[in-house]
Amino acid sequence: MLTVDRGHYGSDTVSTHALMRAGVVQLSRWGILDAIKAAGTPVVRSTSFHYGDEVVAVQIKPQADIEGLYAPRRTVIDRVLVDAAQAAGATMMFETQFVDLVRGDNGRVAGVRLKDGRDREWQVAADLVIGADGVHSTVARLVGSECYRTGRHATGVVFSYWTGLELDGYHWYYNPGVSAGAIPTNDGQTCIFASVPQHRFQETMRQGAETGHRRVLAECAPDLAAVADESTRVEKYRGFSGEVGFFRQSVGPGWALVGDAGYFKDPLTAHGITDALIDAELLAHAVAADTEAAFAGYQSARDRLAVGHFEVTDAVASFEWDLPTVQQLHRALSDEMKKESIEVKNFATPA
Ligand SMILES: Cc1cc2nc3c(=O)[nH]c(=O)nc-3n(C[C@H](O)[C@H](O)[C@H](O)COP(=O)(O)OP(=O)(O)OC[C@H]3O[C@@H](n4cnc5c(N)ncnc54)[C@H](O)[C@@H]3O)c2cc1C
Repeated sequence: MLTVDRGHYGSDTVSTHALMRAGVVQLSRWGILDAIKAAGTPVVRSTSFHYGDEVVAVQIKPQADIEGLYAPRRTVIDRVLVDAAQAAGATMMFETQFVDLVRGDNGRVAGVRLKDGRDREWQVAADLVIGADGVHSTVARLVGSECYRTGRHATGVVFSYWTGLELDGYHWYYNPGVSAGAIPTNDGQTCIFASVPQHRFQETMRQGAETGHRRVLAECAPDLAAVADESTRVEKYRGFSGEVGFFRQSVGPGWALVGDAGYFKDPLTAHGITDALIDAELLAHAVAADTEAAFAGYQSARDRLAVGHFEVTDAVASFEWDLPTVQQLHRALSDEMKKESIEVKNFATPA
């Protein structure tokens, strides 16, 4: 197996990194949760929802060898996943861009054209080309994959990292028209994000990311804003102006899509990494079975797990809620995640 990435080994990406139960279960099953813990990723034992002044705190029940949840920096989890893939026999090439598909006489995808940092191009034959190339997937565009379900709403978000916060667990804050969160991660740092509906994002950022972040935080989570003010910001701000969610046709002759390339939902419910891990395992089963039915089954299994979550996320991202309504939406999300965790625990090992 050959894997190419135009980024470099261990590079960061514009994403916060809260993992949900199903993703942690998979990392444990694959034997790589220990490497994430060894990188100093703190265990998350509770998740607290702040609805205005009301706080609903949920304890994360430990299960078998899993003490809680984790939110590793992408520089940590992406590296650990790459190392595991290499140890399992994959060849990894970084700073290598996928630029085009190669097709056989029958039109089936039969390989890729790649390009290195010096603009040198070459061709590699492949039985299966998997596009794991994110929301703006080039593979999806070149195979002509159609969207068959789209969301209606999107949020913009700005985030950075602070040290010296004495906050335990995940904290998610909601007030009408605004949202925020605190996610403990590696190196004693806490990621603090501030979200608004997409149509408010440009205006929020007009006076710069710092002003926008402080303004939303003060409006949404004054306690968290005060804690952040007393702590030290250690990284620059990063922003994401929003993208409406979608499901794309994710299998075809000689190709497949996983992760955001095939299915994307608003990051406000912090579930995209878990989704990408689930996709990867479902697709691995299809590849092992290597039948048309198994590939079709990959997409339908993904959708069965994802559609409920997608719709609730879209409703949360609408910001068209009052506090009792968003609380209800979170109960629905929690039900979706319980179902998902049970299914993911029961995934059979690919042959
Ligand atoms: C602001 C923000 C916050 C988020 N917070 C969370 C969170 O807290 N928890 C969570 O679970 N999810 C979160 N998400 C979602 C999460 O980031 C994505 O769902 C996840 O990264 C999807 O993984 P992926 O591998 O499919 O795509 P990506 O992580 O986007 O990776 C795509 C890879 O493809 C490579 N690539 C792209 N094009 C090419 C090409 N032509 N040639 C070679 N390589 C290419 C890129 O270099 C990249 O490495 C957040 C997203 C955003 C935007």
